[in-house]
Amino acid sequence: MSRQALDELKQQIPLLDYLETHHWQPLRRISRGRWMGLCPLHNDHKPSFLMDPGKNLFYCYGCGRGGDVIRFVELYHQVRFPQALGLLRQWRDWAPLLHEAASFYRMQLHRHAVAVAWLHQRGLRSPELIEHMRIGYAPGGCLRGWLTQLGYPLAALRQAGLVSVPGYDTYTHRIVFPLEGNLYGRSISASAPPHRFLPGTKGGLYLWEHVRQYQEVILVEGLFDYAVLWQAGFHNVTCSMGSHLNAYQFRQLCDSPRTVYLAFDADSNGSGQQAAQRLSQRLREQGIATRRVLLPEGHDPNSFFLAGGDAQGFHHLLQEASL
Ligand SMILES: [Zn+2]
Repeated sequence: MSRQALDELKQQIPLLDYLETHHWQPLRRISRGRWMGLCPLHNDHKPSFLMDPGKNLFYCYGCGRGGDVIRFVELYHQVRFPQALGLLRQWRDWAPLLHEAASFYRMQLHRHAVAVAWLHQRGLRSPELIEHMRIGYAPGGCLRGWLTQLGYPLAALRQAGLVSVPGYDTYTHRIVFPLEGNLYGRSISASAPPHRFLPGTKGGLYLWEHVRQYQEVILVEGLFDYAVLWQAGFHNVTCSMGSHLNAYQFRQLCDSPRTVYLAFDADSNGSGQQAAQRLSQRLREQGIATRRVLLPEGHDPNSFFLAGGDAQGFHHLLQEASL
């Protein structure tokens, strides 16, 4: 890649936008339009991360690292230069599109009583939670029209997987949760496969930037488990979207000393608990303390709360969690 092409790529990707889609929050404004916030690269407790939107550069007074958006991607995703460029190109092409789609789905949620009722029935009731998780609804048959009207070419919608090859909205009658670089769609109709992701990676741990400063972190398999725990006041919860963690999610859990509570499903065939056991062992090898939360048989955190469990009851399970 030529010097000029590199400069162009950097200009197309404002570091601040990139950071914000990775849930970084500017906390304090300082001179010359610069911002301070918590460092996403180390376990920061005071805002040591300086971000200069004018120069498109960052520097951390805590871990001493700094540079441009490409350097940030190398450090944040722990990849080499060529992979960092690939991730940035993908982000540049897809981020605005996915953001627009997610906003559209959020507007739709409140127009479709059936979707809100479905969420209620799964125990997701608080407006703060729906706002926090940016939950939306895909009725189907209207996203394509909306995005093309905004000027996005059909080819781009197909490439991102939002629209199928014949030209229909991919997500129909699905609750939609925005992830880092993807959208998860949960079907509310029994006749469709329940879980769907767009093509590409499922990304890192769910809303990791909100969680990583906690000494104790609860890890769950599903976003509905996440939702009921967050709603019950457990804000130190994150989700791996499945019992198998990708390499990036695993590195995130290991990025600083902490205790991880694994609250995986207690399915009758034992697969959730086996996955928890294997993960627990791998984490310990990296020096991370782990506890396995034993839910009543046949339950996951979501069904535990739906069956009448409350914050106190779950707290008790955390206290009882086995090594
Ligand atoms: Zn740092």
